[in-house]
Amino acid sequence: MIRQIVIVGGGSAGWLTAGLLAAEHGAGGRVQVTLLESPDTPPIGVGEGTWPSMRDTLRRIGVSETDFIRACDVSFKQGSRFDGWVSGDGDYYFHPFTLPQGYGDANLAAAWQLHHHGVPFADMASFQPHLCAHARAPKQVVTPEYASVANYGYHLDAGKFGQLLRSHCIDKLGVRHVLGHVSAINAQPNGDIASVQTREHGALAGDLFVDCTGMRSLLLGGHYEVAFLNQRHVLFNDTALAVQVPYAREDAPIASQTTSTAQANGWIWDIGLPARRGIGHVYSSAHTTDEAAERALRAYIGQECASPRKISFTPGYRARFWDHNVVAIGLSAGFIEPLEASALALVELSAAMLADDLPATREEMDIVARRFNDSFTYRWERVIDFLKLHYVLSRRVDADYWHEHRAGASIPDRLRELLLLWRHRPPSRNDVNRIEEVFPSASYQYVLYGMGFVTAHAPRQADQLDAAEGYFREAAALTRKMLGALPGNRELIDHIRHHGLPNI
Ligand SMILES: Cc1cc2nc3c(=O)[nH]c(=O)nc-3n(C[C@H](O)[C@H](O)[C@H](O)COP(=O)(O)OP(=O)(O)OC[C@H]3O[C@@H](n4cnc5c(N)ncnc54)[C@H](O)[C@@H]3O)c2cc1C
Repeated sequence: MIRQIVIVGGGSAGWLTAGLLAAEHGAGGRVQVTLLESPDTPPIGVGEGTWPSMRDTLRRIGVSETDFIRACDVSFKQGSRFDGWVSGDGDYYFHPFTLPQGYGDANLAAAWQLHHHGVPFADMASFQPHLCAHARAPKQVVTPEYASVANYGYHLDAGKFGQLLRSHCIDKLGVRHVLGHVSAINAQPNGDIASVQTREHGALAGDLFVDCTGMRSLLLGGHYEVAFLNQRHVLFNDTALAVQVPYAREDAPIASQTTSTAQANGWIWDIGLPARRGIGHVYSSAHTTDEAAERALRAYIGQECASPRKISFTPGYRARFWDHNVVAIGLSAGFIEPLEASALALVELSAAMLADDLPATREEMDIVARRFNDSFTYRWERVIDFLKLHYVLSRRVDADYWHEHRAGASIPDRLRELLLLWRHRPPSRNDVNRIEEVFPSASYQYVLYGMGFVTAHAPRQADQLDAAEGYFREAAALTRKMLGALPGNRELIDHIRHHGLPNI
């Protein structure tokens, strides 16, 4: 029987996994969840952008949205804005979280190409870029916790998020917390892990171990030596410089989107929290130096700031995520540049699948493991395809970095095939058709048409071009209505801090 689950690692991945497992299986003491973290190795402490899925995850764990917003310096995120990715000459486009209006009923991409090419695709198909342009919140003061008027995720302080999850898991969900540094691993005769040996508390036994040890990947990579599939030949970025920047004025508007601004050899993220901005330059160490990257970061910020913190990583993921009785979640499973902030979303999906399909006995574990490995190999491949799309479509010519990104050999086969299909018809649900796709076909449309991709599509009856025009009018009407009704991002955050959000 699987009764003792030991999670090794107390970063966001460890605590989110502990929360979901304990909320789902902890009641009545059927399963005991223990989280063990090293007293000497702090969590990575970055990761400030989430997807809308975080709302479901927090609700499932039982965290109140008001408490979360108050404790973690949270603001609302409604998507990403990409500046300078097409030509570097003042261009921009949005990838909002809301699907195009009437998506699936009519072919908005076809109708937009025929009649509205002069207006950015996302601005025609969705009200959300307009809310972002005016730094509006995605809900009103009367909208209950976790409910939305416009789909949203969060920007948050990663350190404070870890602390909130930790106290919630220990105080409310009965997760046992052990501070101890794992120094060795004790195996059973069948190759499973019997216990982890800690410096402080001796051996800690378990039936199932979750490796949340960050980039060290102590159990899956270290003990089982599961291969790391390096993706640097596809996505070149391997270094980040991160810094926190104060607002010029306390009441400055808080951006409702992450802004990603392309640079000669990478890109800069800009995330607005209530008390500060989090800004970072992600770049390829093979194409530029740390000094040049820091100069580009400081030029972007345009004011005095602290020395940035450097974080190096190897882009890639493990050949398997579950081996014997160990499943890796978080950076231990892999990491790719945070261009679409997909890392925490993969943590949520992994922890949710583990909680949903948790094997009751060792006998069924290998079946669950095989399915888990299939799902997440597929998801990592799709994340890589989608991130690479942003580079392949760029027409920037200012550095080798961009030319090399467009070179055929660096483009995954499946993405190359899809790009060929999309020359003749827009992305559809048939192209990415699994349940819980990480990026739906709508996301591909936002990026393709935001970046000026041309589809030579002959209109068909199924496109419902008249209906599409109706949806464009609907999006415009919603824009007017919402701009009139929704408060500013900062205004709503301030209100929630003082008065909270209504419960459902
Ligand atoms: C530059 C950058 C920007 C990012 N931006 C985003 C973003 O915008 N959105 C997003 O979703 N994600 C982002 N991420 C990813 C995100 O930060 C991580 O996915 C998230 O923080 C989870 O990390 P983790 O818990 O897996 O690892 P960590 O936070 O590194 O935690 C590792 C844990 O393992 C423990 N440990 C290690 N060794 C031992 C040992 N021997 N014994 C016991 N315990 C041990 C440590 O004590 C620690 O508690 C970003 C990452 C980087 C590098």
